[in-house]
Amino acid sequence: MLIIDAFAFSRTEEQQSGTLSLKELPRLRAECVSEEGVVEWQLTGETHASGYPVLHLTVTGTVSLRCQRCLTPFVFEFSSDSQIILAKDEQNADEIDASLEEEETEVIVGSKAFDIMALIEDEALLAIPLSPKHEVCPIREKLDAFATAKKESPFAALKDQLIIGKNSED
Ligand SMILES: [Zn+2]
Repeated sequence: MLIIDAFAFSRTEEQQSGTLSLKELPRLRAECVSEEGVVEWQLTGETHASGYPVLHLTVTGTVSLRCQRCLTPFVFEFSSDSQIILAKDEQNADEIDASLEEEETEVIVGSKAFDIMALIEDEALLAIPLSPKHEVCPIREKLDAFATAKKESPFAALKDQLIIGKNSED
């Protein structure tokens, strides 16, 4: 855990940065194929235009995800940049939410013992796709070429079924 006093951090415009391994981020690790990868973060204390305390968090990372189409791993790079407004409590969070015009600004309840590692992991999880896919699957391309070449074969249709069967096992 990385604990800060969130309100003091914002007020004094502190800055912290670091690098985390996937071993330290088990929820993100669960979405990845392996522990290979790295997550870099930078946190800056700021004040929102409307006067609210803000944590400005940027998270960039490289992780290995499994393509949901061809089931092979691929390297995925992500980056996120978020302004997070600190509320005093849940009621205050609702009030801030209602007063904000920008819908995309996040509002969370801050504390004097605030775990920024959980926040970094949340942002990383938001930045990776729910259903990761290659833009063009390398293996699928080969299989398609194979299927086209063997179109006259009665086994071509069977092969497609086998691929479907294999997908649903995972
Ligand atoms: Zn793929």
